[in-house]
Parts: sequence; structure tokens; C-alpha cells
Amino acid sequence: MNVPLFTPNRQNQELATELRAACNRVFDAGAFILGSEVEQFERQVAAWHGAPAAVGVSSGTDALLASLMARGIREGDQVIVPAFTFFATAGVVTRLGACPVFVDVCPACFQMTAESFAAAITPQTRAVIPVHLFGHAADIEGIVKVADAHRIAVIEDTAQAMGAEVGGRKVGSFGDFGCLSFFPTKNLGGFGDGGMVLTRNARDAENLRQIRNHGMHPKYHHHHVGGNFRLDALQAALLQVKLPHVNGWLARRAQHAARYQAALSQHPRVGISRVARCDENCSAADCHGDSGMAILLPHVREGQTPAWNQFTLRVTGGRRDALRDYLTAQGVGSEIYYPIPLHQQPCFAFHCPDISLPNAERLAKEVLSLPIFPELSENEVEHVINAVIRWLDAL
Ligand SMILES: *Cc1c(COP(=O)(O)O)cnc(C)c1O
Repeated sequence: MNVPLFTPNRQNQELATELRAACNRVFDAGAFILGSEVEQFERQVAAWHGAPAAVGVSSGTDALLASLMARGIREGDQVIVPAFTFFATAGVVTRLGACPVFVDVCPACFQMTAESFAAAITPQTRAVIPVHLFGHAADIEGIVKVADAHRIAVIEDTAQAMGAEVGGRKVGSFGDFGCLSFFPTKNLGGFGDGGMVLTRNARDAENLRQIRNHGMHPKYHHHHVGGNFRLDALQAALLQVKLPHVNGWLARRAQHAARYQAALSQHPRVGISRVARCDENCSAADCHGDSGMAILLPHVREGQTPAWNQFTLRVTGGRRDALRDYLTAQGVGSEIYYPIPLHQQPCFAFHCPDISLPNAERLAKEVLSLPIFPELSENEVEHVINAVIRWLDAL
């Protein structure tokens, strides 16, 4: 049996009739740039999140970039970002001439903590981009509290975490900006690139609407320089079909995660990073996997409901690549998100000469993500579990 890491078209095929109808609607209307399809979809996504406003953009990356531009981030400014995330989180900062300041993450939950953020603040700090990595919420309440006290803008990178909740409230709605991605592998996967910015206040929303359209307002008057960061009408029409299904898909992801947790945690060489709060006791042996465990299961922070965009193991003892090779041989797809922490990327060397962020560096060597997309069958999940257990038994 072959179990792919991800395959978007199982989900899309199930909705083929409605999706084709949405295409035809846009085709017949003949209006392809912004317009009512995008406006409707923006209202639906804002309501889904309990956010006051939402602005459709061309990608998750452009959602982050436009948010920084909306607050005028520029050369000389510092923006605090976790070192363990997808490249886009920090790339957008550098593109504006500002400086990404990398902070370490918690080794148990993989997220930036309020403490590591607070410790990195300087008089030049203008914004922070907490990432809800792998669909798990960062300590967004703690981070917003610190940011508010220092008048720092909070731009939540919610690309992987649409639907994750903290205290019953959706992530992306806590900060000044919540940036979503509709890249096909995300929780609401589109047909190409697309993104959205959730905003709390009308001024930011208006700024974003201008920035995504070359900073233009009114027509052919440009008070600031924006870009072409528009969401396509076609994309918005297709995503309107998929949005009502997201909760069902998230429930399927959670079921798969629960099965992985239940089956794998039975094994004597499998543990969980047990820390009461992620930022406490991170040197505990089980947290660092020095307690004889070969695999550590994902740690779910208290008070949050994850959106399980990824199911990411820590494989300790230098065995990660061996497990990956074994899974590949067994027909199980897996991926290393992410093999190099951002502060060690050559393109950022200029910003971070010689900094050391041990948790991020360690995770880059240990993490391995398993298939968890909603349409996996029971048999496929079982095949993955059995393959991991066979590998553990042979240790
Ligand atoms: C996918 C992703 C992005 C970028 O989204 P795109 O739509 O691919 O531009 C940004 N941050 C994180 C954490 C992501 O996973």
C-alpha cells in the first residue's frame, strides 16, 4: 500500500459538481479581478473567524508582506520572528529592508513563546510575527499582552492553522493582522495560490485594500506604493464552495491525530514532551528526548484546539533520517518541515552572524511529519502506524 503525504484532489473530486458550477458562474459573469466573488468570500472568512474584516490577497506570503506594509515597516525597523518556521515568515521582513530578529522556540510545542519574544524586544522593534506552526496555536494571548505593553504590531502567521482555537476563539483573530494561506496543502486548500488578511480595525483593512492594488485610491492616485496582491475572483468562487466543509475536514484531521497518538503512545519507546507550560522545564529529560524514547509525539498546549495541518514527530538519537528511509521503503510519504532553521539560512547570514538557537537547531534535526490530510482512509492510517511500530520494534 502507498500512503501519500498529501493529495489534494481526493477532496476536490468529492466536490467536483459544485466546483465546476462555481467556475461556470465566474466564466459567465466575465469579471475576473476582485468584485463580488472576492467580497463575498471575504465576508464569509471574516465571519468564520469572528473577525471584523478580511482582505483577500494573492498568497499567504503576500498577506504577511501587505500587513507589514500596512504598518509602514521599513529599513531600520526590527520584526521578531521564530527561527523554526517556513521561510516566508522572515523573507517578507527582509524584502522591506527591515531586519528579522530570530528567536528560539519551545522544543515541546515548537512555537515561539511570550518569554522569548519579550526578551528580544528593542527600541527598534515594530512588529512580531508569531507562527501557529503545524496547526498548533502559539501562546497568542501571552504574546499579544507583551506586544500591547510595548505598542508592537502583532501579525499572526496563521497559514498552517486556520481553525485552531485558543479558549474557544480562532487564531488569526487575536493580533492586529491574521494571515491565511490557501496554498493547496493548507487547511482550506485552493486551486493555485491565494491568501487572506483578517483585521481588527477599519483603518488597517482600508490600508490593505489599497496596498493590494498598487496603493491606489482613488483610481490612478497613489499615496503609497503597494503591489499587485489581489485574490482572483475565480479562486474566491472555488474557495466559497470549500469553506463550509472546513470544519468537517478539521474533525477528520483530529481523528487521524488521535489514532496516531493512541496507537503510538502504547509503544515503550514512544513518549510525549511533557511540560506543564511549554516555556517551563524545557530542559526536562522527556522534553529533550533523553529518557530512552526514540519518538516523541506532538505536545498539545493546554487550552488550545489544534487544527492538525501536520502531525510532526520528534525522532531522537540521530535516527530521524533512518525512520524516513524506512517509511519511504514501506510506501509511506513523509516530509521534514523544516531541515534548516532560518537563522542558519545563507540569505539571512547578514542579519544573524553567529547566533545560536539550540531548540530550533535540534528540532531541524529531529522532526518528521506523517500523512494527516482529511481524506486518508482508516486502512491508510493503520498502514502508517504499523510501519512506525515495526521500525521501533527493530531498534
Ligand atoms: C504556507 C506558509 C506561508 C506562505 O503561504 P503561501 O500561500 O504559500 O505564500 C507562510 N507561513 C507559513 C508558516 C506557511 O506554512
